[in-house]
Amino acid sequence: MAGQSVYAALEPLLPRVTKPIQYVGGELNAQTKPWDCGGDDTVRWALLYPDAYEVGLPNQGLQILYEVLNEDPRTLAERTYSVWPDLEALMREAGVPQFTVDGHRPVGDFDLLGVSFATELGYTNLLSALDLAAIPLHSADRTEAHPIVVAGGHAAFNPEPVADFIDAAALGDGEQAVKTITEVVRAHRHLGREATLTALAKTPGVYVPSRYDVEYLPDGRIRRVVPNREGVPWRVAKNTVTDLDEWPYPKQPLVPLAETVHERMSVEIFRGCTRGCRFCQAGMITRPVRERSLQTVGKMVADGLAKTGFSEVGLLSLSSADHSEIDQIATQLADRYEESKTSLSLPSTRVDAFNVTLANELSRSGRRSGLTFAPEGGSERLRRVINKQVSEEDLIRTTTTAYGAGWQQVKLYFMCGLPTETDEDVLGIAAMAKEVIRQGREAAGRPVRVTVSIGGFVPKPHTPFQWAAQADPDVIDARLAMLRQSVGRDKAIGFRYHDGKPGQVEGLLARGDRRVGAVIEAVWRDGGRFDGWSEHFSYDRWMTQAAAVGIDVAWYTTRERGETEVLPWDHLDAGLDKDWLWADWQDALAAAEGGGDGVEDCRWTPCFDCGVCPGLDLEIEQGPTGRQLLPLSPV
Ligand code: SF4
Repeated sequence: MAGQSVYAALEPLLPRVTKPIQYVGGELNAQTKPWDCGGDDTVRWALLYPDAYEVGLPNQGLQILYEVLNEDPRTLAERTYSVWPDLEALMREAGVPQFTVDGHRPVGDFDLLGVSFATELGYTNLLSALDLAAIPLHSADRTEAHPIVVAGGHAAFNPEPVADFIDAAALGDGEQAVKTITEVVRAHRHLGREATLTALAKTPGVYVPSRYDVEYLPDGRIRRVVPNREGVPWRVAKNTVTDLDEWPYPKQPLVPLAETVHERMSVEIFRGCTRGCRFCQAGMITRPVRERSLQTVGKMVADGLAKTGFSEVGLLSLSSADHSEIDQIATQLADRYEESKTSLSLPSTRVDAFNVTLANELSRSGRRSGLTFAPEGGSERLRRVINKQVSEEDLIRTTTTAYGAGWQQVKLYFMCGLPTETDEDVLGIAAMAKEVIRQGREAAGRPVRVTVSIGGFVPKPHTPFQWAAQADPDVIDARLAMLRQSVGRDKAIGFRYHDGKPGQVEGLLARGDRRVGAVIEAVWRDGGRFDGWSEHFSYDRWMTQAAAVGIDVAWYTTRERGETEVLPWDHLDAGLDKDWLWADWQDALAAAEGGGDGVEDCRWTPCFDCGVCPGLDLEIEQGPTGRQLLPLSPV
């Protein structure tokens, strides 16, 4: 019978695998509803995070959808995560299918399988989950018996490399979209799978790859992408939730049973970013800025703490200190929770938005959680190219403030391989780190430490750098080696970096088209799993399999694209005007030579017509509102 728990078959396998606790479910605030909770109308979602439990459980997006869906009495949602290779082998031996951690139900029994991609390196894990669930890998081979596979998350803004494996992609904010998709499926499933997919293809914000044909030019570039059914739009526009206060989720965050990457409660204080960093896909595709009000943040923190017992609250967003009332939020929350020693943290903070008030409020509980700043580029010139308008003085002032306020360690994040980058730009990182330490020591009167963390730059769709040539991994590796030498043996400077190879695969998947799906499948068939984990990632496997299926990796990664080239994601609309993106790319190149216009933040300057707001018929929503949080008693 559909929806039966497979726990009896799974349980004997668990003592034989690492961290079995991650597969048992039953976390505080988890939900398991009856399989037929809505009678014949029940729509059932399995929500997959295609990575291990420890990474997937804290994911806010998945927790939000889980709650929003389960609030509907006729809808049921359960979670599933990627199983580690040790359990996968045993499940195959014992015939145990991919299961949900809530009801331990077979994923293949659900009506929909939603998969949230934070990164493209999760694509092979989708194939593992499909195969373990006995769902055909290719959408074209699925029947009425199989779930409809819907991708979401940032990587869904170019789902072409996984177009053969998914049935649909939901673009943009998921809260409302997931409810709309549920209703379309409820209304059309009696007409069959094909009719349901066509109905989804006509639903705003939903892209159904099989309803589009891709035509190519003789040189391999795309000629055009054409809808192949009447009524299917030429371009699919993203979903945007305009008022975050109407969607205060998660209301009851999940408390993990096993160790996870974040052991705290998170409250998203705003969505979107208009700083205009040219490398940043998250900032571009989540525009415009929508702030959550001080009152709603206060209520979400109070309710969430009461329901979870966490002692740390992360105030989440792409750049939390940019909230127009961040000082009030920090001060008033610190007032409320000082006695209870609940600590506040800002997981991402812009160098130029951090200040003494914030530093003091964040440390009032007595705890100072990690502070990370991201100058991204090692020289002023490069920071102008990427439109990260942060001066070295800003950075030193900020880190010195933090050291002076009691922090002993800050983390600085940079990228290597940015467009127009030279060896000197990268060596500038070492010089900057040394200066941070020198002035920090002076201000604090004691030893201080800085950790320099470096990631390889990957050009992403829907950004001004979508046309850029990605740096060759050998170039990145040579620059990182040079930087390491320049940092030398200074014990005050920690140095963390990854080699350039995973970035090249991420680049292939990020800007790939439908033909790249053959590489993903070949890699997976050859044993590729958990590509985001260095101990599982195999560069050689990716290169060998790409060559075997006739894909030229360099063509997709280190090739600069021209203005008129049709990009694989041009028919997916993140709201940004392509001409504006191109002009901004030209400004970046001009900045490399000392010219070009920088882009200010449209929260504080007039609109510069990136294209997002007119389509949404809204104004940028932000404070300050001047409202106050009332004292809570007792905390
Ligand atoms: S349309 Fe204007 S106001 Fe809206 S995000 Fe773009 S630049 Fe900012």
